[in-house]
Amino acid sequence: MLDFVIAPPATPAVPVAGGGYFPIRRIFCVGRNYAAHTREMGGDPNREPPFFFTKPADAIVVGDSVPFPSATDNLHHEMELVVALGSGGRDIPPGAALDHVYGYAAGVDLTRRDLQDEAKSLRRPWDMSKGFDHSAPVGPIAPSSRVGHPASGRISLTVNGEQRQNGDLSDMIWPVADIIACLSSLVELMPGDLIFTGTPDGVGQLRRGDRIAGVIDGIGQLEFTLA
Ligand code: MN
Repeated sequence: MLDFVIAPPATPAVPVAGGGYFPIRRIFCVGRNYAAHTREMGGDPNREPPFFFTKPADAIVVGDSVPFPSATDNLHHEMELVVALGSGGRDIPPGAALDHVYGYAAGVDLTRRDLQDEAKSLRRPWDMSKGFDHSAPVGPIAPSSRVGHPASGRISLTVNGEQRQNGDLSDMIWPVADIIACLSSLVELMPGDLIFTGTPDGVGQLRRGDRIAGVIDGIGQLEFTLA
């Protein structure tokens, strides 16, 4: 053990449905992976290659309460399928990609939309609009040994009981295997990496006190209040 001069940070972790904890190494996110959401954000959904951004590992929130972030007047929800990698590699072919998946979870890519719009118009990075503290609430991870690798199923989100997002995993432009293959050509993927795989349409504004509930059929759910 190294002689650290301050206490080393704790490893962020997410509970696994059925027991144990999954340690988080990095968080990757895919932009614009559902055609209807790409159109609502003003883009063209015609098979542009996937693009990626990141959040810090400790942006993960497990539990019932998420603090409302500073510095935004337009916080948005993006309901997403989250992939948890049990092993990694470089240049993984799509046909072998799902072998690296430990499991799946429901997650929300919280976004300071006002800061993201400003970053887009000024050609600045997205870090402060996407990778802020507590920006990645996730539910328990369902091991693929139990749930398989669902390629279809309803993905939906309600705010205070009102339906906001309602899509299907089969609407993804780039399925999970293609996302892993593409990302592994850019970085060496490692055990503990999470991938947020993009959101269906219906993203919208959240306010203090809102109760958010997301469900992915066959995988799991999450629920939290913006404190
Ligand atoms: Mn997203």
